Amino acid sequence: MSAQERSDVAVASTGLGAIDRGAARPRLDDKAMINCRADVNQLLPLKYRWAWERYLSACNNHWMPTEVSMQADIALWRSRDGLSEDERRMVKRNLGFFAASESLVANNIVLAIYRHLTNPECRQYLLRQAFEEAIHTHTFQYICESLGLDEGELFNMYREVPSITDKASWALKYTQHLSDPHFETGTPETDTAFLRDLVAFYVVFEGMWFYTGFAQILSLGRRNKMVGIAEQYQYILRDESLHLNFGIDVINQIRAENPHLWTTALQEEVRQMLHDACDLEIAYGRDTMPRGLLGLNADLCAQYMHNIANRRCAQLGLEAVFPDTPNPFAWMAEAMDIKKEKNFFETRVTEYQTGSSLKW
Ligand code: FE
Ligand code: MN
Repeated sequence: MSAQERSDVAVASTGLGAIDRGAARPRLDDKAMINCRADVNQLLPLKYRWAWERYLSACNNHWMPTEVSMQADIALWRSRDGLSEDERRMVKRNLGFFAASESLVANNIVLAIYRHLTNPECRQYLLRQAFEEAIHTHTFQYICESLGLDEGELFNMYREVPSITDKASWALKYTQHLSDPHFETGTPETDTAFLRDLVAFYVVFEGMWFYTGFAQILSLGRRNKMVGIAEQYQYILRDESLHLNFGIDVINQIRAENPHLWTTALQEEVRQMLHDACDLEIAYGRDTMPRGLLGLNADLCAQYMHNIANRRCAQLGLEAVFPDTPNPFAWMAEAMDIKKEKNFFETRVTEYQTGSSLKW
């Protein structure tokens, strides 16, 4: 694309430029994932039905952290010997990692991804996802308040605990230049930078790093400890599985429309990113569980991360980074297939689908 075309796209992608009075109606073929000049204010006609379907699924998953009772967690947290020191350390570091990460993910969506993904049905999903990230951040506020945790310790942890800082700063280097107001897609270099950001946040941050955290808390929940937090994490896990799968679809759709971007070099780079992400996660595992607990330890978490990295490679059509690594936490596969695990709507205390609840 020429510099002029790139700047036209940049203006069109905001949907806030001067209105082209009487312009022709956009056709399906005018729509594209990136570098599209078709009007982003027109959702219909739908081109990417998968994005719309994911938006609908996300809306059907609505929940609020405050619907979950924290009474049992509060009692256990306050009791003298309800939790071991190792368990407390793990819970705190886990909460600290998530508390800041949900905000990082939200800011990346709103300030970096949204502007460059030039398709309204994908943006519809991003808007929903951004709200879900707000709900996730709300969850950590609610847990912090319920348990009476030190809010500074929790929310500043990503700047204080090196293994958490290392993960956040690894991901940030892929989003920093995208959030620069002068960054424009439309060259192979900048389009590739956009793909790297999608890999870093959707595949690594949400698709790999969140999973050790889920395993830690769900493992406590399986032992009847911190059951309120464990229930909230199941809801978050359900949301995050959708975020991950949306991200994979976006990457694969961009690849399909721009095959020249998915070079052998980029494929190798993505595999290396997943490899590095595993190393960072293994350091975090040792930091949060120096002695092993609840059937989890740093070695099993490393194996789990390798298994997940391979699954992500398969979803992106790449060769496995750590071939033949079985999943050591088979029970997590069940927790993720939540339809089997439990019917969420049975435990719901609030009905969202009743219009009659709107009384003024
Ligand atoms: Fe989230
Ligand atoms: Mn997410």
